Amino acid sequence: MISIPKSTLVLAVLTVASPVLLPLPAKAANFDFGSTAVETLNYLSANLEGRSVGTQKEAETVDYLVEQLKGYDYSPILQPFDYQFRGQELTSYNVVAERPGTSGKQILLGAHYDSAPSNSTLDRTNLEGTNDNASGVGVLLELAQRLEAETAHTVTFVFFGAEEIGLVGSEFYASSLSQQDIDDTLLMVNLDSLVVGDKMYFNAGRGAATNPSWFEYRDLALEIAAENGIAAESNPGFNDDYPKGTGCCSDLESFDFLMPVLAAEATNWDIGDKDGYTQTSNPNVPGGATWHDPATDNREFINEVFPGLIEERTRNYTLILDEFIDRVNAKSVPEPMSILGFATALGAAGLMLKRQSDRYD
Ligand SMILES: [Zn+2]
Repeated sequence: MISIPKSTLVLAVLTVASPVLLPLPAKAANFDFGSTAVETLNYLSANLEGRSVGTQKEAETVDYLVEQLKGYDYSPILQPFDYQFRGQELTSYNVVAERPGTSGKQILLGAHYDSAPSNSTLDRTNLEGTNDNASGVGVLLELAQRLEAETAHTVTFVFFGAEEIGLVGSEFYASSLSQQDIDDTLLMVNLDSLVVGDKMYFNAGRGAATNPSWFEYRDLALEIAAENGIAAESNPGFNDDYPKGTGCCSDLESFDFLMPVLAAEATNWDIGDKDGYTQTSNPNVPGGATWHDPATDNREFINEVFPGLIEERTRNYTLILDEFIDRVNAKSVPEPMSILGFATALGAAGLMLKRQSDRYD
């Protein structure tokens, strides 16, 4: 809690007492859903391609996010973290912005801004990362822009660094949370790769497989989609390594045994190895996936093969999640998890941690 100096209080009173008092609309934002998301996606694709760890473009992306957030009346902070990558000592940053609430509870939303690094066989210095993950960054930024200044629960937006090399930024963020922070966080929402894919998905985290009450937020997102005539579904669970209704392979994994998770992603869980990695049955997409491929994860290719899909998906995800935040803010805080549920979740965590993901979206 910050104490406000008396002089500031006087100024505030004078400001409020100004004679022009217009009623505030319920929603301050008055523009089409998805418009800021598309603008952001275009900017990241065109100007911040190849934003992988340790690059100048990565640093420029951080600056860009900070500037945008300031423009939406946030005071973003940078959370630095050090790590080793291919024998180098590197530092990256999570960009964190929040709208403070009054309930003592928090809604956490995240999307990674980095792109996959080059390796010995593939030069990714021109990887636009339009789908993965300019799309998630764009939608997250628009949700931040749309959020009113007064909110019941604190809403925290985190733009994670260094996801593509093993969820480094999100793991650092999760490890920085105290038990009290975790208890006070209602859920984590992860946005990764929202455009390319035959279908829109909302999944829970793995912890929900043994603690079904954690499916509550997934169900709410699907309900809002249905109310708006938007087709969305959940992982059908055809692959035993990926339990029904749960997502994987992105920053949600840093949180999904700590708290309820809602994971938004476009892909197709019915095809390929049924692990969510094959995104589309469209024959014009080689191998059915664009992830980390400079030749296909770019605006030109996506617009050619899927005309209008960038606009459609960013609009739909923004609309659903904006309403989702409103509804979570409007409802009463759920009861804390029972001791039994917690013990079950811990047991499942122990069992399931042995699964090593060989991919990160
Ligand atoms: Zn990703």
